Amino acid sequence: MPPPVVPTLGIPEDLGIPEDGEAEPKQDLLGLPRDRMATLLEGLIDKPYRIDQIYRALHEHGVDDFGQITTLSKDLRASLQREFTIGLPQEATRHQSADGTVKYLFRLHDGATIETVDIPDGDRRTLCLSSQAGCALACRFCVTGFWGGGRNLTSGEIVAQVLTAKRRDVEGTHGLNLVFMGMGEPLLNLDNLHTALEILLEQISWRRVTVSTAGILPGIEAMAAWPVRPQLAISLHAPDEDRRSEIMPINRKYPLKELLPLLARFPLARKQRITFEYILIRDFNDAKGDADLLAQLLKGLPAKVNLIPLNGDPVLGEEMRSPEPRRVEAFRQRLLERGLMATTRRQRGDDISAACGQLRVPNREPRGFRRSNLRY
Ligand code: SF4
Repeated sequence: MPPPVVPTLGIPEDLGIPEDGEAEPKQDLLGLPRDRMATLLEGLIDKPYRIDQIYRALHEHGVDDFGQITTLSKDLRASLQREFTIGLPQEATRHQSADGTVKYLFRLHDGATIETVDIPDGDRRTLCLSSQAGCALACRFCVTGFWGGGRNLTSGEIVAQVLTAKRRDVEGTHGLNLVFMGMGEPLLNLDNLHTALEILLEQISWRRVTVSTAGILPGIEAMAAWPVRPQLAISLHAPDEDRRSEIMPINRKYPLKELLPLLARFPLARKQRITFEYILIRDFNDAKGDADLLAQLLKGLPAKVNLIPLNGDPVLGEEMRSPEPRRVEAFRQRLLERGLMATTRRQRGDDISAACGQLRVPNREPRGFRRSNLRY
């Protein structure tokens, strides 16, 4: 059987942008879970199963125009066209790395831009999603943080990033993993993240979806109460309070001494673990003694550590350098000796600045960056 025709990602004709004098942008149906869509469309549809037809057309077939949903009557298609929009973003650029990683730059309806990275790995792929257009948390090792904060993404803008992968992948969501490790702090956009996850977790198992946070305590508490939760990852990056505060200012507000006890109470399935991401920065946090401190810090937690050699970027300064590979491996071995599960993340897409911490907002002036703040 020939593979189904997958539409290429184009620019939808109607982005829902208000013209001069037009009061409100049209409501984006992509960001609505099934029950909310049913309530919204109650007066338009003749039979309840129409909701299913519209929902599947959007999320399984990836239509970008209501006119393509030919199972609906002409009148209903016209009404949908008039009152709503399918908020697929404009693909401004697409770069492909030598290792197959693809980085998209999407322009949203108001001109804000985000990056999404698609990382293939055999018959699997991982999509690295953005949750905000920029990030206000200003982690010192992160290019996104260097460029400063932007607005929250809507639930539709989060879901739309996933639809791009489906458009490139005739197998749909087969083998697809989602990680919220792109631009922004997902737990500072909690409501829209939760709504997007309601939609995404209908199609993809929670085990293949990971939300990574810098440690926003109220957000973690809220996540703990969700009936269906994705996997949790914590951007840790330092083995003690002082050094974490130095490279992650958010640690002053939500310090390790409050974060770690909260994680110890976080509800997990059997054998599930919390991932702790640890960016290794040369001569800052990469000594064997730091591995000992890290093992001590995570003692008793259901933890696995993901080591990430820093992806250097000129805007971060000379001080921010990656350790030698043998030093990275020595650090990992030390963690294993101390009884921690530890892996090293393979660098992907660094030739197109799509690697961890390299996503940026190209149309914005950077925040006032004081390199003298770095003490290495
Ligand atoms: S590492 Fe994450 S939380 Fe920190 S500045 Fe970058 S995007 Fe924001």
